[in-house]
Amino acid sequence: MAEDTTRKKLRRATITFWLLLTYVVAAYVWWFISLEQQNEEMRGYKELQLQSEVDSSISPELYSTRYETIEKDYRRNQTKFAGEAVVFLALIFVGAAILYRSVRRQFRLQQQQQNFMMAVTHELKTPIAVARINLETLQKHNLDPEKQKKLIRLTLEETTRLNTLTNNILVSSQLEGGGYHFTNEEIELSDLLEDVLQDFIKRFPDRQFILDVEPEVDVKGDPLLLQILVNNLVENAIKYSPRDKPIIARLYRQDGLVKLELCDEGPGVPDEEKIRIFDKFYRIGNENTRKSQGTGLGLYLCSKIARDHNADISVTNNHPHGSIFAVSFHQ
Ligand code: ADP
Repeated sequence: MAEDTTRKKLRRATITFWLLLTYVVAAYVWWFISLEQQNEEMRGYKELQLQSEVDSSISPELYSTRYETIEKDYRRNQTKFAGEAVVFLALIFVGAAILYRSVRRQFRLQQQQQNFMMAVTHELKTPIAVARINLETLQKHNLDPEKQKKLIRLTLEETTRLNTLTNNILVSSQLEGGGYHFTNEEIELSDLLEDVLQDFIKRFPDRQFILDVEPEVDVKGDPLLLQILVNNLVENAIKYSPRDKPIIARLYRQDGLVKLELCDEGPGVPDEEKIRIFDKFYRIGNENTRKSQGTGLGLYLCSKIARDHNADISVTNNHPHGSIFAVSFHQ
């Protein structure tokens, strides 16, 4: 619904923009033609005047000098008008292109923010509702220990999801507002990666995780932020790849860089989306057809954390299918 309204507004703004631009260009062309006509009329008047002087007193040499001056003035004006026309038209088009892009970006951001608000509301409500039902069931019924364990595990799972979501929202706003107290300490990334993955192995016992981690690889940075970075990448790999496909985590040193890679065998990321997925609130596809839950904040946060750690983040295709998210830390 909100998407439809935004799209209608964008269409209206686009039509108004093109109408205004057409009007400005047409008025401008008309102004240029009028100036050209004036220039020609001036030349005509001057030539007529010269002609009348010839009949009376003027010598042929003086006539030809003055005739040349008239022609020169005419041509100079022509060049001046043409030059001005080109410069003004170029300025109008550059200005219009900048305006057009920024308006479209503004609309897109507005729409993504609306989607984000809807997604967050949904993402917050679901775990709370599930945890509540599970706890009520535990309270009301005398379940056997196996079922109790299962309900507690599911409830914990939901609270972890809630924790990740609130962490993502809080840390993004703190990083953006400059309110995050960044610690810059020596961190053993090999241990951090293994710890995070052990946690996922416990939470998702039916998934296959392969760890290919070089020991004692360290980087300088903030442990909480690096944990959020790894967490988001692993969560995405789980969310966007089939249950029966493995997820590989690699950590190694290469050419003076520390490289962290998360590989999955999901659908992968289309080439035209490879840059955009790191934008704030950006999610592939549209709200009506998308099946996965999310807020579009995870990869934005990952790229921000990578930048703050003097690292690059990118996504490439895995073979035969899937994606590889790679973070390269410059030492
Ligand atoms: P969210 O997962 O909450 O939608 P992210 O910022 O983490 O937000 O990801 C942005 C988009 O990038 C996702 O909506 C998804 O379409 C795509 N994406 C992220 N990770 C993967 C992956 N491992 N495989 C395929 N697509 C992915």
